[in-house]
Parts: sequence; structure tokens; C-alpha cells
Amino acid sequence: MDTQRKTRLLIIGSGPAGYTAGVYGARAMLDPILVQGIEPGGQLTTTTEVENWPGDTEVQGPDLMVRMEAHAKAMGCEIVGDIITDLDLSSRPFIARGDSGTTYEADAVILATGARAKWLGLDSEEAFKGFGVSACATCDGFFYRGQEIVVIGGGNTAVEEALFLTNFASKVTLIHRRNELRAEKILQDRLLKHPKVETLWHHTLEEVVGEDNPKGVSAVRVKHVDTGEISEIPAKGVFIAIGHAPANELVKDTLELHHGGYVKVTPGSTETSIPGVFAAGDLTDHKYRQAVTSAGMGCMAALDAERFLAEQGEQTGKDETLPLGYGAPEGEGVAADEPQDA
Ligand code: FAD
Ligand code: NAP
Repeated sequence: MDTQRKTRLLIIGSGPAGYTAGVYGARAMLDPILVQGIEPGGQLTTTTEVENWPGDTEVQGPDLMVRMEAHAKAMGCEIVGDIITDLDLSSRPFIARGDSGTTYEADAVILATGARAKWLGLDSEEAFKGFGVSACATCDGFFYRGQEIVVIGGGNTAVEEALFLTNFASKVTLIHRRNELRAEKILQDRLLKHPKVETLWHHTLEEVVGEDNPKGVSAVRVKHVDTGEISEIPAKGVFIAIGHAPANELVKDTLELHHGGYVKVTPGSTETSIPGVFAAGDLTDHKYRQAVTSAGMGCMAALDAERFLAEQGEQTGKDETLPLGYGAPEGEGVAADEPQDA
């Protein structure tokens, strides 16, 4: 059934930025609705150990995100399993349409849609996606027990994926276009010392080679970036880890972007080019792209949204005519400009 919801603050995205905005938005009594999207918990659900989340020497990415969701919920943020397919920012209140058929009307919006894995764009990569080609080692590594695997890339993701895949593979070859990794030194150290890992420098992936029946990968054809020489490496699995691009589909035609698609915000804030629309996390951050920086920006976005709504003098976004009840009953809401327990 198509439903209409009204909220003072709509948060789109359920990674560290979204859930942190949920915690702060709820504590500011904005009764936020957070829409989770296709990947509840965001990118950290695709990894294993996280060793740089303050307060946890080591925590599993999916566990951390379950805790963040529970925290946001406990503070009073409503979490909705839906995907926003269309966002109308032409006038306030803003209108977001969900895949479920629900329409969300919001006085302010926090965009926290994060980033998605990039692909090389090769025809053979596309042809074998899901049949030997993957961008998620934690999701698919298990299928390659005792097999040879290649990983393409030289950043943190590539090195972590390669190390994780050593749990299953007989051999992992990391193929990188330069001879220097971008990954953190501690990860490089682990990779280069690992007995199951080989590195192939100055090479790019030219083609994924495989069979159709049964469909699967048997090798990769790689090219030396200087000499152009082509060689073939046997592999049953090919993991592409060449970085992430901001998930800007909802706003690419309406908000100012920069640095190749990241949402532009006023320096030192999360304000976008449209008043009342705020952006946080990997969607806006071309530089740091960490869980902790995303969470920090989620906090900033909720505080910016609270201030914006207070300046607009809006007391409540509740619509008594709507079929679904939510928020505090009339008279129990807290005025946006009342002092809050932050
Ligand atoms: P994301 O985590 O990308 O979440 C985006 C959210 O938006 C998702 O919930 C998605 O469902 C939702 N969404 C997208 N589109 C829509 C839509 N249309 N409607 C509704 N919702 C939508 N960082 C670290 O600090 N430490 C690490 O150890 C670490 N390890 C990593 C390992 C891997 C394999 C990867 C890929 C990244 C890692 N990172 C790590 C980076 C970290 O995960 C990101 O910086 C962080 O998750 C970004 O948070 P975010 O909230 O901006 O977005
Ligand atoms: P990244 O840091 O942007 O690295 C991408 C890698 O892929 C680079 O080595 C790049 O090569 C290579 N590459 C890009 N395009 C390519 C192409 N067309 N062909 C071949 N190689 C290509 O991306 P990431 O590793 O996904 O990391 C994204 C963000 O998440 C980073 O900020 C990272 O710190 C964060 N992250 C953090 C952790 C952690 O803290 N443990 C773990 C994972 C991710 P060049 O080096 O030559 O440019």
C-alpha cells in the first residue's frame, strides 16, 4: 500500500554517517526517519576486522554496524528498510519517494548515501560478474577454497581483500598498476610478508578469461604498463578493488558536485548548495573516507539540520492526517529552539 510519511528530518543512508546523524537527530527531538537503502549498515558490512574505530582495538565491521543501528534506534530514530528512488529538492518540504511506494515529506534532509565499488569497465569483467569476478571478498571469498585468486588494486581495500582471501585461496596475486601501494603501512607490511601472497607490479587487467559451460573464470590476461607485454595468470577468482565512487545518483543533477562527483559542502559544515539539505560521509568526502570521519560528519549534519530547522522556526513536522502515527503526541514535542541535552 502506498503510504505518505512526514518528518522534520529524513536521513538517507545507514552507514556510520547515517546512523550517527540518527543518534544526534533523535537526541535533538527531531523524530528523524532513517532510510537504510540496499546495503543496511553500509560498506563496513562488507569487511571483517576494523582496527581503527576508536574504543575497539578490533571489531568486526558487521557487528559494529549492528551496534550503531541499535544505538540510533534506542535514541528514538525510526529506521526504515526502504530505498529512495527519487528525491525532489525543488521546494520545501522536500519529497523523497521510496521503492516501497512510500513518499517521505521532510523539512530537512541528510544525505549519507556513501560510496560504491568502482569497476574497470571491461566487457569480460561484466560477463563474469557473479561467476568468478567480484568486488567483495567477504561476500564471495568462501567460494574459492584451495583456488588461485587475483586482486586488482593498490589501496587499503585491495590489500585487506588480498589478506582476507588468503584464508581460502592456495595463492593470491595482487596486481597493481604501479610498484607502490597506497594502503596503510601496517597493511602493506602484512601483505608483503604473507607466504601465500605474490605481487605483480606495473600491470593492468586486460581481460578475464573463462568458459561458458559451466560459466567460470580460468585466468586473467594482464598487460605490462611500460612494455605492453601481455601475459596470462591462472585464476578462478578475480577481485576488483580499485576504489569507490560517491553514490550521488539521487542528487547529481540538483546539487553542486566537485572532485569527480562528490557532493560539495560549505567548508567546515555539511551544508550543500540547497538550504535544508545536508551531506555527510563518503558521499561528500573525497579525501579521508574513513568510518570515523563519516560518523563525525553525520554528527555535524544533524547539528546543522537542527540549527537550520530552529532558524526556520518550525516546531513540528507531524501531520495528524496521515494514516501511520509517529512522533510525540501533540503538546509533547520539544520546540526546536528549546535548550537540548546534547
Ligand atoms: P556507507 O558506509 O557507504 O553507507 C552508505 C549507505 O547509504 C548504505 O547504507 C546504503 O544502503 C545507503 N544508500 C545508498 N543509496 C541509497 C538510497 N538511494 N536510498 C537509501 N539509502 C541509500 N574505514 C575505516 O575507517 N576502517 C576500516 O577498517 C575500513 N574498512 C573498509 C573495508 C572495506 C572493504 C571498504 C569497502 C571500506 C572500508 N572502510 C573502512 C571505509 C568505510 O567503510 C567508509 O568510509 C564508511 O563506511 C563510509 O560511511 P558512510 O556512512 O558515508 O557510507
Ligand atoms: P583507493 O584508496 O582510492 O585505492 C584505489 C586503488 O586502485 C589505487 O591503488 C589505485 O591505483 C587503483 N586503481 C584505481 N583505478 C584503477 C584502474 N582503472 N586500474 C587499475 N588500478 C586502479 O580506494 P580503496 O582502497 O577502495 O579505499 C577507499 C577509501 O576507504 C580510502 O579512503 C581508504 O582509506 C578507506 N578504507 C580504509 C580501510 C582501513 O582503514 N583499514 C580499509 C578499506 C578502505 P593508484 O594507487 O595508482 O592510484
